Amino acid sequence: MIEVYRDRDSATIGHLQSLLEAEGISTYLRNEHASSTTIPIPEVTPALCILEEAEVERGVDLIRAYLEAPSADPNEELTCPTCGELSPGTLAVCWSCGGDLV
Ligand SMILES: [Zn+2]
Repeated sequence: MIEVYRDRDSATIGHLQSLLEAEGISTYLRNEHASSTTIPIPEVTPALCILEEAEVERGVDLIRAYLEAPSADPNEELTCPTCGELSPGTLAVCWSCGGDLV
């Protein structure tokens, strides 16, 4: 079991865990309930672990991609590369044809 990410924000940890699980990577959340304490002790910070060492590299890449992804500007409109229609920047797929916008 390898610890790959540590954050006091349990929401981010939980999101990353479901992200990895969706990719078929088995994870374990250490100190899951630690954020309920008022004393920030590093040893009990929630930590996301990957069970299989062979999956760590892929998992770290997924986490990095998630953390570095620019948050979409909701005011920006994206032009669909497939049909040319404008879609709100909050959408990942075209409202018109369903094609990928990114
Ligand atoms: Zn389209």
